[in-house]
Amino acid sequence: MIQLYIPLNFLGVIYREIKQGLTDLDKMFVLLEREREVADAPGAPPLAVSGAAVRFEAVGFAYERERPILHGVSFEIPAGKKVAVVGPSGSGKSTLARLLYRFYDVDSGRVLIDGQDIRTVTQSSLRGAIGIVPQDTVLFNDTVAYNIAYGRPGASQQEVEAAARAAHIHDFIAGTPKGYQTMVGERGLKLSGGEKQRVAIARTLLKNPPLLIFDEATSALDSSNERAIQAELEAVGRDKTVLVIAHRLSTIVDAHEILVIELGRIIERGNHTQLMAADGRYAQMWRLQQAGGEG
Ligand code: ADP
Ligand code: MG
Repeated sequence: MIQLYIPLNFLGVIYREIKQGLTDLDKMFVLLEREREVADAPGAPPLAVSGAAVRFEAVGFAYERERPILHGVSFEIPAGKKVAVVGPSGSGKSTLARLLYRFYDVDSGRVLIDGQDIRTVTQSSLRGAIGIVPQDTVLFNDTVAYNIAYGRPGASQQEVEAAARAAHIHDFIAGTPKGYQTMVGERGLKLSGGEKQRVAIARTLLKNPPLLIFDEATSALDSSNERAIQAELEAVGRDKTVLVIAHRLSTIVDAHEILVIELGRIIERGNHTQLMAADGRYAQMWRLQQAGGEG
């Protein structure tokens, strides 16, 4: 009995490990599938940008097949207008930004820019037209100058500096021993969340693209820095198409439309005045932020 019991138990362990291995393999194939999905279609033309109008048509998306994140999300950003997305954390706001930048492809529905399904154009032309300041900026293991100029390769040192000044990161950079040649990233100078965010803002200001995505772009900054940079973002966003994911509602009162998203669905939409009059979730969030001193 003993003799038999041990190998069987041992087999149980192996069986579990094989099963776990298969699950991981399955996940890996899902990842590979995603990798394939975001490849350029054969012979894909570049995106032809006129006003950079954005249109989400009944977009559905899941990172993992069994857990859908977005359900039939539809909205439009007319050329040169600003649309804001607000809602609790985990509701799918950043996912919208990632889909527009085509980090992932939608599972259902379509994302269009100036009438072109973004899956049908080259990724380089798509990403060339979009400036994104993500929630968590990952910098390249290269110099500060490279990280800023990445937005527009070939930019002059003066242009890089002007962008850095506008993003309020110039003085910090100038204060490091190697200045703009300082290596940053994993293997270089470690920057704080706020400093990384300012590098990403400088990159976007320099790139000056027709379509901007700000994903809580100033969330890692203290409030005085935030106000100053907010003004720069306003300036760069004027006359551009802007998708802004906001954590401070006071920064989006002027938005063409505000989408309130919860659990991957748009539950309220309208401009600030309309949403306040509707006295629903948005109005509730607004009152909370006013009472909390916007904290
Ligand atoms: P928000 O920006 O509104 O806080 P996100 O769009 O980042 O929300 O995330 C929406 C949901 O998708 C969350 O439940 C989050 O955990 C999940 N999620 C985000 N990224 C991934 C990922 N790479 N893989 C699996 N799930 C993810
Ligand atoms: Mg987010």
